[in-house]
Amino acid sequence: MLHNDQLEKWDRENFFHPSTHLAEFARGNVPHRVITGGTGCHIEDRDGNRLLDAFAGLYCVNVGYGRPEIADAIADQARELAYYHSYVGHGTEASITLSKMILDRAPDHMSKVYFGLSGSDANETNIKLIWYYNNILGRPEKKKIISRWRGYHGSGLMTGSLTGLELFHNKFDLPLAQVIHTEAPYYFRRPDLAQTEAQFVAHCVAELEALIAREGADTIAAFIGEPVLGTGGIVPPPAGYWEAIQAVLEKHDILLVADEVVTGFGRLGTMFGSEHYGLRPDLITIAKGLTSAYAPLSGTIVSDKMWKVLEQGTDENGPIGHGWTYSAHPIGAAAGVANLKLIDDLGLVENAGSVGAYLNAAMQDALGQHANVGEVRGEGMLCAVEFVANKDSRSFFDASDKIGPQIAARLLEQDNIIARAMPQGDILGMAPPFCLTKAEVDQIVDATARAVHAVLG
Ligand code: PLP
Repeated sequence: MLHNDQLEKWDRENFFHPSTHLAEFARGNVPHRVITGGTGCHIEDRDGNRLLDAFAGLYCVNVGYGRPEIADAIADQARELAYYHSYVGHGTEASITLSKMILDRAPDHMSKVYFGLSGSDANETNIKLIWYYNNILGRPEKKKIISRWRGYHGSGLMTGSLTGLELFHNKFDLPLAQVIHTEAPYYFRRPDLAQTEAQFVAHCVAELEALIAREGADTIAAFIGEPVLGTGGIVPPPAGYWEAIQAVLEKHDILLVADEVVTGFGRLGTMFGSEHYGLRPDLITIAKGLTSAYAPLSGTIVSDKMWKVLEQGTDENGPIGHGWTYSAHPIGAAAGVANLKLIDDLGLVENAGSVGAYLNAAMQDALGQHANVGEVRGEGMLCAVEFVANKDSRSFFDASDKIGPQIAARLLEQDNIIARAMPQGDILGMAPPFCLTKAEVDQIVDATARAVHAVLG
């Protein structure tokens, strides 16, 4: 085994880490950590630390670490058949079974699933299918995509454009021209503090209507949104938001893409966020929780309405020109089948709902009254604490104070708990595995309160 020093040297010399300050990492000013194992909600590193992962990796290890049921399914599949492609009608028992399992869990009006590897490539697939759909319907002008500021939909060219966070646009020449952004359903950051929730929803609807009027409905193909904003700050929508937005989209014949990469397969205490908020999407994006990240796999779930047009398209034009070498990779598919079974067998969707509610209530009790806590919010197994310089005026800290990152660092250093300083604003985010216990919640909440008091008094 290599010594840590050697690994650290190689790491800093050779490894281009995503979402990392490259220069500071190379200089040794950003910590390096080598993860060696994990069980349940904990991971271990090479220095002997055992950390409670209250972010489930990147909100993805939903069943928790170290599940032999999934590891065995992957190993069995690798021994039997590690790879074959899924082009021109090929498949494996695992990929066919998984398609059926997904459709059994998805809203009734969904028809087929296309597999990819990441949430980003699934959203790229979505946009191509939407453009294809409108071309087949003879509407070549209807192509723009509306996304929300603070939405997160991936890091590709199109998906990085859909993402509404500055960090993902700056210096990358994004967003691309076909993408337009509208107001985030972020009540805490409403433009006018006097607005009630209902007035703020009306404001979001008016902004959307104005955007559509400016651009022309006949140029707009689709609207994409996460049922609950994730990376943009873990923000559940205000009451009535989705119903009101969907009415506008239906009126203008604009498709709805529900990006359920975070919310799919149980995180809100329901199988899909669409079910939770009454969404009627034309496409649903899935990834992360599909395999609990035991192997890379994503998917696009296509509605009956779109599927009919895609079939018509291939009748008119021949096979659809869209495929990845690793679409429906057998190892990912085997992991997905075992993962969805485990979620059912252990009742993890219910646990996400009940323990998630306990987490949110306990965090509210512990920190809701703190002078610098503007809001504690969440839904299911998602929870966020947003910090403010002044609660009455809702003024924010300067980003350079790094309040969110300081609190996350303190939580990690003092109590070995991983939470995430969300990228835009001073927001501490949590998205634990669904197998989290109430005792672990108590540990997370006590430690978070200590970290907040240590940094903010
Ligand atoms: N969509 C949402 C809602 C996400 O949260 C993410 C990743 O965090 C993605 C898409 C992109 O997924 P990936 O990182 O697998 O490309």
